[in-house]
Amino acid sequence: MPEIINTEITYLTGVGPKRAELLGKEIGVKTISDLLYYFPYKYIDRTQFHNIADLSSDMPYIQISGVIERFFTEGGGRSKRLAASFRDDTGTIKLVWFKGINWITNSYTVNKKYIVFGKPGIFNGMLNIIHPEIEDPGKKEKKITSGIQAQYNTTEKLKSSYITSRTINKLLSNIYTQFDFRVKETLPGWMIHKYNLMQLHDALFTIHFPNNNRDVEKARYRLKFEELFYIQLNLLRFKVRRANQYKGFIFSTVGDKFNNFYYKNLPFELTDAQKKVMREIRKDIGSGKQMNRLLQGDVGSGKTLVALMSMLIANDNGYQACLMAPTEILAIQHYNTIESFVAGLDLEVRLLRGSTKKSERSEISEMLGDGRLNILIGTHALIEDTVQFSRLGLVIIDEQHRFGVAQRARLWEKSSKPPHILVMTATPIPRTLAMTLYGDLDVSVIDELPPGRKPVKTLHYTDSARLRLFRFMKKEIEAGQQIYIVYPLIKESEKMDYKNLEEGVEAITRDFPAPRYVISIVHGQMKSREKDYSMRLFKEGKAHILIATTVIEVGVDIQNASVMIIESAERFGLSQLHQLRGRVGRGASQSYCILMSSDKLSGEASKRLEIMISSSDGFEIAEADLRIRGPGDIEGTQQSGIGFNLKIADLGRDGQILEYVRRIAGDIIEKDPDLKNDDNTILKNEIVRQAKTGFDWSSIS
Ligand code: ADP
Ligand code: MG
Repeated sequence: MPEIINTEITYLTGVGPKRAELLGKEIGVKTISDLLYYFPYKYIDRTQFHNIADLSSDMPYIQISGVIERFFTEGGGRSKRLAASFRDDTGTIKLVWFKGINWITNSYTVNKKYIVFGKPGIFNGMLNIIHPEIEDPGKKEKKITSGIQAQYNTTEKLKSSYITSRTINKLLSNIYTQFDFRVKETLPGWMIHKYNLMQLHDALFTIHFPNNNRDVEKARYRLKFEELFYIQLNLLRFKVRRANQYKGFIFSTVGDKFNNFYYKNLPFELTDAQKKVMREIRKDIGSGKQMNRLLQGDVGSGKTLVALMSMLIANDNGYQACLMAPTEILAIQHYNTIESFVAGLDLEVRLLRGSTKKSERSEISEMLGDGRLNILIGTHALIEDTVQFSRLGLVIIDEQHRFGVAQRARLWEKSSKPPHILVMTATPIPRTLAMTLYGDLDVSVIDELPPGRKPVKTLHYTDSARLRLFRFMKKEIEAGQQIYIVYPLIKESEKMDYKNLEEGVEAITRDFPAPRYVISIVHGQMKSREKDYSMRLFKEGKAHILIATTVIEVGVDIQNASVMIIESAERFGLSQLHQLRGRVGRGASQSYCILMSSDKLSGEASKRLEIMISSSDGFEIAEADLRIRGPGDIEGTQQSGIGFNLKIADLGRDGQILEYVRRIAGDIIEKDPDLKNDDNTILKNEIVRQAKTGFDWSSIS
């Protein structure tokens, strides 16, 4: 017999086929277990009773006790409503219903004692409660009561079918009155004991029917602990298994290619952070294990150089390396940078992209095959089947979040042994999120910018300051600087965005007329050849202003551009704003980032802009972003192919628990990598169960 909690929700008293369908469709509740795991979002204290005389319309939900004096109807036609005057020893208040009038008058009796619960409001100078909840304290309802009452999210559809937060609470109560059951524990006894956790059964009951806030905290802690713990256990198990399964190429020597570059060509000192990261990478690739490393570093921190040096070491050991970028513009840029860095060295570097001509392709293919080609740079074109390396030893993926999991997996097939993999990202990911999304990768961080960079000055202007803005732009152009203007591009309102862009272009060309000023435009609807042309115009310094949608977001390096103007800045997320700002501040002169917005801003939007003005630290900004928006929205997490549907833990707030359970999971895996000990049987079973219910752990990285 299946466990009670795994049975369909229709077995529950109070749920017929119609309700079952609605619950499934609207909130994904199909089984009793689903309902148990439908957690409340807040609690309301129901131990307190108020005097009617003390009520005011600015109070939240309150509870009063008294009798209904009389029912009466008010208004007519569509605004007809049922009202009742409700009295206690201190005064009276009006109760109002717009719907279910007959049902109300049939269900409640005048002059009988009731408990009324609701939010006081005010209408025509009189206090009232609209659609209150009414309870008969004398009626021995088979219902579980609790000190503080759980509140559940519902949807419009549920509400209009009379499934309210209270209904959900009642259904939950039915589970406990109807069935005699105990939810099977999912953590081993020793963990429950050692980490002082509530039993699962108790935690699930308590989260719905707590007596006080301390109960809630204990129950929540247990459930968050478990949720985060299993994610970490899975990730670390996967990591250990991969390490045991695959041996990596050993790059033991540093030879001429690296040394010649380092001593002859490198025009500056590495930063301490770059040196540290190089040591970490060298340790990996020299150890015989297969490297799977995430390299995080703010825009401009010098990741490309780290990538190049790693590739040179691969070359020195007789292996080929490739560098994959998410867009052609970036691939070209990497290619040019690397070509100029390695000028004069004995090294074959090629660029492969969608538009590469057939003759060149076959040459590349030949050089790949006979091992002459050392470094191949390109876009997605690199992972086409026709691209065959003879000795691929290192793969570097830039701006990883644009690459799908499947695409990365194909790279592995390009070699007999999996190559070393270095994933680089300039989207700083908060620690907690990185531990979850990339928990199976080792992480290196470049937390220092090359010396001599002047911090970018960030200003916030509203539309009324546009004339001042234009004057400022002219001054900068006069001084030989170039300017970016970026417009938002948000899928849902693409049409509107283009309209904004077009209007913007019109306004700019009016104030910055040709031939005195040259303006270049790049947006998503242009052909890639047109885009390349416009970009090049700007890159080569022939255009003064580049007007663009966010296609320039990632990685473009134009030193002479010193002003970044972001239109409708309130519509961008924090990490996007930070990325965009990173486009300037690369040259020697003072750079500016100007956030343009309308006068009216939501609280959240103005908070974002404030953070941009006060901080230039990508990690700090990413943490703030996580706190403001929640992890679901963080850029890159959707595209990363990993949909963590956390039910209760919050990566923005539960960082401490996360670090704690990661250590615990790490200890367990270290001592018992296959979870063979009897002590860990429950862990093993739970992992198997979770694997069956959907998430494919092997899809990570
Ligand atoms: P990222 O890829 O991390 O955004 P890049 O590798 O493009 O950063 O580096 C940004 C700029 O800084 C490049 O022009 C690069 O040549 C320069 N750079 C990198 N490392 C150093 C360093 N140690 N000292 C001075 N300049 C550096
Ligand atoms: Mg870069």
